[in-house]
Amino acid sequence: MSEHERETHHAGEPGKRNFIRAIIDDDLASGRRGGVTTRFPPEPNGYLHIGHAKNICLNFGLARDYRGRCHLRFDDTNPVTEDTEYVEAIERDLRWLGFDWGEHLYHASDYFEQLYQYALQLIEQGDAYVCSLDEAQIRDYRGTVREPGRPSPYRDRAPAENRDLFQRMRAGEFADGAHVLRAKIDMAAPNMIMRDPLLYRIRKKTHYRSGDAWPIYPLYDFTHCLSDAIEGITHSLCTLEFENNRELYDWIIDKVNPPHHPRQYEFARLFLAYTVMSKRKLLALVKGGHVSGWDDPRMPTLAAMRRRGYTPAAIRDFCDRIGIAKANSLVGLDQLEFSVRNDLNPSSPRVMCVMQPLKAVIEDYPEGKTETWDAPLFPDDVPAEGSRKLPFSRTIYIERDDFMANPPKGYRRLRPGGEVRLRHGYVIKCERAITDPASGEVVELRCSHDPATRGVNPKDRKIAGTIHWVSAEHAVPAEARRYGRLFNHLRPDAAEGPFTDHLNPDSVETFSCLVEPCVANDPPGSRYQFERQGYYCSDVVDSKPGALVFIHTVGLRDSWSKQAQAPEPAAAKPAPPKPATAEPRAPKARGREEIAAGKTPAMATAFARYVDALGLSLDEADTLSGDPDLAALFDAALAAFDSAKTIANLAVNELARLLKDRAAADLPFGGAQLGALAKLLDEGAISASAAKTVLAELAAHGGEPAAIVAAKGLRQVSDADALASLIDGVLADHPQELARYRSGEKKLLGFLMGQAMKAAGGKANPKLVNQLLRQRLG
Ligand code: ATP
Ligand code: MG
Repeated sequence: MSEHERETHHAGEPGKRNFIRAIIDDDLASGRRGGVTTRFPPEPNGYLHIGHAKNICLNFGLARDYRGRCHLRFDDTNPVTEDTEYVEAIERDLRWLGFDWGEHLYHASDYFEQLYQYALQLIEQGDAYVCSLDEAQIRDYRGTVREPGRPSPYRDRAPAENRDLFQRMRAGEFADGAHVLRAKIDMAAPNMIMRDPLLYRIRKKTHYRSGDAWPIYPLYDFTHCLSDAIEGITHSLCTLEFENNRELYDWIIDKVNPPHHPRQYEFARLFLAYTVMSKRKLLALVKGGHVSGWDDPRMPTLAAMRRRGYTPAAIRDFCDRIGIAKANSLVGLDQLEFSVRNDLNPSSPRVMCVMQPLKAVIEDYPEGKTETWDAPLFPDDVPAEGSRKLPFSRTIYIERDDFMANPPKGYRRLRPGGEVRLRHGYVIKCERAITDPASGEVVELRCSHDPATRGVNPKDRKIAGTIHWVSAEHAVPAEARRYGRLFNHLRPDAAEGPFTDHLNPDSVETFSCLVEPCVANDPPGSRYQFERQGYYCSDVVDSKPGALVFIHTVGLRDSWSKQAQAPEPAAAKPAPPKPATAEPRAPKARGREEIAAGKTPAMATAFARYVDALGLSLDEADTLSGDPDLAALFDAALAAFDSAKTIANLAVNELARLLKDRAAADLPFGGAQLGALAKLLDEGAISASAAKTVLAELAAHGGEPAAIVAAKGLRQVSDADALASLIDGVLADHPQELARYRSGEKKLLGFLMGQAMKAAGGKANPKLVNQLLRQRLG
């Protein structure tokens, strides 16, 4: 890690307001707390990922802004999965991200003795007992959500017997699984977690720190709250899935009554589209050889992002932009890339690299001559300075894509008889193209140059296109790697089948490229903008002097939505990376640009995603991107049911009306319910008007769409047989209208349709009624 990456310039930027900051402000104002101590508690069973970064930025950011402190605590009580490799990786990645825990490095395993004493205390108090049921029996006795559990036959063991057994467990007298220590709470508790949860189990395994000193290990719920208490944590922040555990957290703190009483608050987990984030699944990708390691550039880990050229500042910016909320939402890769691109733009030197070389000989340029120019490394609108030596000679390589023998109208690059400007160089003209007679492929261009055009103000010599190039004699051959999404599915772990079924088989492309010589001796990890190609970074793992490897960091603009929008015309194989130039693109409606121009960059990115990737209308995308709460609800609904149009219609056209001036975040339902409603609608189970009724009910009182549909009798008649007999009845009741229709009065179809819908009490699927009616009318 280079020193400059450990920059701490973010130390002065306070984070965005969120509900946790509101709680803290209140705690400090009321004197309930005298200060803020937070912690980041990773389990060392894998590498940190971008979800952890959200948590880290929150916890360390609070400590920074409230002048408190944030501890790094390894939550290391599972001897089976933990390892020092992970401990080291976590510390390295945290430092890289720009956070420092100072002297506050802790390990839950250091509290084993203290925790053991606390457990003995609970036993003495009659609040814990040793249970000798086996795992399956414990599960069976626990009951279900609908039925209360049954008490374990060992529940009423006397404290003395419990103490004796627990001490012998600790002494290693029993085999794994023979006994467990359980809290004595309530086997009928509606919250299943409170049904006498396990506190300790026997595990005769070597721990990476405590070795074989302990044959028993405390479980997460017991360890976590008491570790917080031991360290004097004031605000214990965790993700939503621990909401139900809070009751147990408070129960244990209450019973043990340590000097400090921390409080737990939950916030939404980060879900990133097209990837998995659980360390267990990431480990499976590594172990299964699906990726080259934890730092494979396609992984969502911080190690991978560092290798890929992402900056710590970009990741912190991303975490800040997504904010902290109570509703889980799925965040698009475009949002992460937006932050990366923003951070790289002012700091990445521009150089030229040709990915798909096509040879061009400048026939009127002397053989053996070389000119070396000082070319600026940064464009005028970027404050950074510097230049590099750029050699030019008679033979150059240009991008294969930058020449077309028969270009379409509006093509601004090179064509037979046409001119183009070489970046920082001369205007050249293509005199003729040499074609391989066997394949018909253009293999070489013969060109001329205009010696008066270098260094001339481009305004004085109007040329439509400028292309990048390298001098054949001086260019350095290298390998470039570009990455696509690791998975084909928006939520691989929510998709059908094993998540590895959804791996994208084409997620890596490699190119033999030619790059300017100025990069040859830069240290690995150097970042560049390859002009018109994207941001690249030399690979710290595979790049060697003389065998450079460049990794694609991020495109020059949002490529995900581009790809979804319009597939490029069939390209030569292998598909070359698309130069992102000022080429004429499909004309865009004025409205779109105007809308985007009025937005903050983050909102403009969201707007583009809604239009390009999801196909929403400009109005829908405008409304959604302008309301982060509504957008979060929409994204969550989309994660639950993949039907963007239906959900957008519900969220924007119907819900926005119902909201008036309420915030979407305050609604008594979430994305799961909205998604379920869209599903009912798409499947034809309810009509559009019924959907409005359900939505109004959801907005007013919450609930589940299916239950509301059932309670209000809104389910449509979609059974064709039932409808058919209903329609036959309607036709029999209206013989005159039927006769008039048959004699040519076609507009009576509407009347008959109305009668049929009425007969069905308005609850028939109109499409189906229409279809059946037409069938009968012939
Ligand atoms: P994983 O499923 O990746 O193993 P975890 O929650 O088990 O996640 P820990 O090492 O226990 O991983 O995580 C440390 C902290 O990071 C926890 O407080 C956890 O809530 C938080 N965290 C993990 N994943 C995310 C995420 N996607 N978004 C926000 N916070 C997260
Ligand atoms: Mg975990």
